[in-house]
Amino acid sequence: MISPESFKRSVGEWAKTCKVEINEIHLRKMKNKWASCSSRGRLTFDRAILRQSKDERTKIIVHELLHLRYPNHGKMFRALLKAYTK
Ligand SMILES: [Zn+2]
Repeated sequence: MISPESFKRSVGEWAKTCKVEINEIHLRKMKNKWASCSSRGRLTFDRAILRQSKDERTKIIVHELLHLRYPNHGKMFRALLKAYTK
């Protein structure tokens, strides 16, 4: 289990790595998905992410951050996700 503070810190670090601007990071209970993002750089993650393994968290974080650059799961999206999470 990771604390909300360290989780948010690691999201911030990944944002730099992925070269995306984020404004706010929120944690709350979500029903059907791990995370969502708005074009203004507001990210929301399911609180249950704090209990996931580091690899799982990284996958979810990078996936969501890349959506700030690519709205869909196209070729570039998949290539970058693979590059960052292997
Ligand atoms: Zn997605």
